[in-house]
Parts: sequence; structure tokens; C-alpha cells
Amino acid sequence: GWAGGFPWDAEVERARAERFGVPSFRPQQREAINACLDGRDVFVRMPTGGGKSLVYQIPALICPLVVVISPLVSLIQDQVQELIQLGIGASAVRSRDESGDTVQTVTKKMLSGELQIVYVTPEMIHQSSILQKTLRSLYEEERLKRFVIDEAHCLNLWGNEFRESYLQLKNLRTSFPNVPILACSATATEEIIQSVLKQLKMAEDSMVFLSPVDRPNLEFKVLPKSKKTVIRDIAEIIRQFPGRSGIIYCLSRQNCEDVQQELAQLQIRAEVYHAHVPPHERAAVQQRWKSGETPIIVATIAFGMGVNKRDVRFVIHHSFPKSLEGYYQEAGRAGRDGCHAVSMIFYDYEDKKRHQHMALSDGNQAPSQAEKTLQRLLQMVDYCEEVTCRRAFICSYFDCAAVAPHCSPNAAMCDRCRAAPAALQDVTLEAQGVLQFLRAARAARPRGKAPPVTLHSVKEALLGSHAQRMAPWQELPGFGALRTWTEPEVLRLLRRLVVRSVLAEEVTTPVAASANVTVAYLIEGKYGEALQLGQLRIPLYRPMA
Ligand code: ADP
Repeated sequence: GWAGGFPWDAEVERARAERFGVPSFRPQQREAINACLDGRDVFVRMPTGGGKSLVYQIPALICPLVVVISPLVSLIQDQVQELIQLGIGASAVRSRDESGDTVQTVTKKMLSGELQIVYVTPEMIHQSSILQKTLRSLYEEERLKRFVIDEAHCLNLWGNEFRESYLQLKNLRTSFPNVPILACSATATEEIIQSVLKQLKMAEDSMVFLSPVDRPNLEFKVLPKSKKTVIRDIAEIIRQFPGRSGIIYCLSRQNCEDVQQELAQLQIRAEVYHAHVPPHERAAVQQRWKSGETPIIVATIAFGMGVNKRDVRFVIHHSFPKSLEGYYQEAGRAGRDGCHAVSMIFYDYEDKKRHQHMALSDGNQAPSQAEKTLQRLLQMVDYCEEVTCRRAFICSYFDCAAVAPHCSPNAAMCDRCRAAPAALQDVTLEAQGVLQFLRAARAARPRGKAPPVTLHSVKEALLGSHAQRMAPWQELPGFGALRTWTEPEVLRLLRRLVVRSVLAEEVTTPVAASANVTVAYLIEGKYGEALQLGQLRIPLYRPMA
């Protein structure tokens, strides 16, 4: 039993100290290793750099053979190298571009028992019949002791990092019913964990180990983005980290190119990395960045997964990303060495339209998925808009049950905890007035020469603007209802109502290919009725007087 210790305790200790040479286990490592050696299905969520590999590498030494399915060839190569240096029987079944010989050599070693751990890509599992045959005969001899699915959130259909090849891993349990599964991820909400467990058909009594998602050495900031100054602002930040490594994430390849050129005009040298950089060049860019030769990289989210650089001091998002999962994964690439590092988002609410437009053009999403994509986007907006502690927000997003850690009051590690405190106010009545005006404006629209109903025109109306174009709306109920508020506050309220789905923005597919001309019409959201019926209250943080 647990109390009396496990039969493998001594071996685990020896492996930790003598093979891997780490002084002690980190939280959850030992527990997860024990669950693995006990033959259970296991899910492990630990932050990047948290030490997931040990959780399956130690059991592989004690109870081989362990097959690790990992999406990234570069990461696989690094790990195999390290293991071989430690004198551990490790190898990788390489993908298509390698000669069939390699596959044959590795599978032969698997059968002869020389290997304790084998890394494969998901593609390889599906494509290589030699590998399949080998796994089958090992299975029949009961020598296949565990499948490890690394980056398990890649199964998540609506995530940044969804991989088609991962879907087929759903068959592992059916094909090899007696082989326990370990799924690992650095970013998975509880919802995603449940979905992964289900998709992989993992046991009802799977053991789930969640390390705290909080990264105490990371500082979080959201900065207002103005198109005119954003490059100068970014340059300013880079200059505060002379010679230090950083990543600037952009939404598109074109953005990357633009940012790189604009930085060059300010005498800052950076390299770009995106899907259109040819593969050999990409590897070279990554290498120069890793070695510190080019400290600054301007990249799309194609960059970073599996790049193990520990001394990244800052990550900048030129536009806010489409979900908090993606954001935390990208931000988390900073400060893996445990020293202070900063993650900054340049926030412009208008970028929401771009995300919605990009989601629209990805036309093969089922409606339920499109709804989830939108929800995630709204939560990202909420993160940027909300005036409470950033790290508390992130932690409760990933871990709804846990008590979210706030920044410590004397060592605030987010911009919100450094700012003047705000007071929570009930603005339900004001929100109802907004909705009343919206309904009236939409109903009136076909008649007069009223302006298009957008977040900005509605804001003008609520402020009681005297502009000529507002004339057709002046008699509507709710016009000027927020006359005493400031413009930024009205905007904040409207955005809050969008985040809460009282209002919604309907993004039109632009006529031209350029996403800049996208128009977002303000419409009533799915909780509009609930607000009007008094079933929903709207709290809003407002600066204290
Ligand atoms: P990830 O969770 O991102 O896969 P890794 O398994 O690569 O993290 O581990 C990250 C780093 O932490 C590695 O350098 C590893 O040697 C180190 N590490 C893992 N476990 C421990 C431990 N218990 N004590 C000290 N260092 C550890």
C-alpha cells in the first residue's frame, strides 16, 4: 500500500540520484511515478520545465519498454541524446524522410530488449508497418509496458496546436487494451483534461496530477496598443534587455515581416520565424537564437514548441492571442531558468475582429466548435480588460477549483496589482439601458439614415454625442444614458457586455481580402434576454473616487 511504501521505492530513489542526478523530486513527480509503476492510466499536467520527462523516464528504467509519442522530431532528438549520455537504452523511430534502414535497426533493438525507451512521432505509428508489427509482437509477449502521449493537448480540436495525427491515437486503447497510458501536457484546462481522458479511452480511475500552473518568476503585463507607437514601444522594451533573448509573437507571417523591418529601421536586429521560412533556414534561425547569436526572434506561434531555451527574458505579443491556453503556453517560454522574466501583451480590442475573421475563414469548424472558439476568444479579451490580478485570473482559468494565488502585496508581479485599486460596482441598470438602446437602434435602422450599429456608434450614442450622424438616434430610449461616464469607461462597459455575451459582435466577411476592412455589427448576445429579465447582474470594476 501507499503507507508502507512500494516495492520499487529503492529503485526509484537510485534512478533519481544516480542516473538523473537530481537532489530530490519536485511536487507530484514521485506520486506520478508511483502511479505509473502501479500500472495506472495517468494524466500529468506540469508547467513547461516542470519535469514531466522524469515521470516516464524513471519507470522506463525499472519497467521497460516505454513508447513515447511526441510530435516534435527536434525535441525527440534532444531527449534521446541526453538519455544515451546517461547510459540509458533510448532511441527514436524517425519519420518518413529517414531511410527505412533506421526503422529496421530500431525495431530490431526493441525486440532484442536493448532499449528501455523509444520515441516515435504519431505519424510514424500510423505509417510504419514495421513499427506496427514490432509493437504487436512486443504486446503479445507482454513486453510493452506503457504508452506516453506527450503534448496531449494536441488532441484538443479547437486549440492552437491541434494535430490531425493525434486523432488516430484514440485507437491505441482499442488496439493495445492492456497497455497503460500516460498523457502529459503543460497547458490543459480541466475541461481539456476530461476531453483527452475520454478521447484516449483512458480508465475511469485514471490518476490526474496537476501541478500548480502558477509561474512565480513570470511577470504579466497588458499594454495599450496604438498602431502608431507599438513598434517604438516594443523597441523600448528590447532596449531594456540588452543582449538578452526574447520572442515577439505576431498573428501572421506578414506581421512578422513588417515588425522585423520596422525594428531594423530602429537599429534593432531580429530574425523571423514562420511557416513560410524554408525548413533548413528555420532550423538555422532557431539555432542562432538558441545560441544567443540573434537574441530577438519575431515569430508566429509556429515557433517555440519544443524549443528548450531556459534564459528567455521576455515574450511580447504584438497582438493578443486567440485563447488563454495559447497565451500561457507562449508566455511560459520565458524564464524557464526560474529567474525573473516578463510577458507583455500589446492589447487593442480591435484585434478581436481579426481573430473572429480568421476563425470565420476557417470554414470547416462545426457550430459547437465555433462557439467554443468564440468563448475562448472572449475569455482572452476578458483577461486583457479585467482589472484584477493577472496571475489569479490565469490560475482560476486553468484550475477553477483551486484558490488562485494573488501576487504578493509587497512584490507585485503583474501590472494590475501595481495599479491603483478599483472598486467593484453593480452596473446592471446601466447595462439594461445599453441593451434597450441597442434594441431600439437595430429596430430603427432600416428606416432613417442612421449610422451602422457598431460598438463605436453605440458608445457615441450612450455618451449623448451631438454629432450630425447621431441625429436619427437622438429620440431613442437610452440615448445619452451614460452621459456622465467617460468615453473609456463606456467602452469598458460595452466590452464587458460582449465578454459576458449580453452583446455580441457579428463580423462580416470583408469584401476585399484585407482583414482591415472587416466590420463588426453590434447585436444582442445570448444572455441579453437574461439581463433584461433581471436574471443576470453585471459587476464592473471602476476606479475608486
Ligand atoms: P518538461 O516538463 O518541460 O518536459 P523536463 O522534463 O524537460 O520538463 O525538465 C526540465 C528540467 O528540469 C530538466 O533540465 C530536468 O533535468 C530538470 N528537472 C526535472 N526534475 C527535476 C528535479 N526533481 N530536480 C531538479 N531538476 C529537475
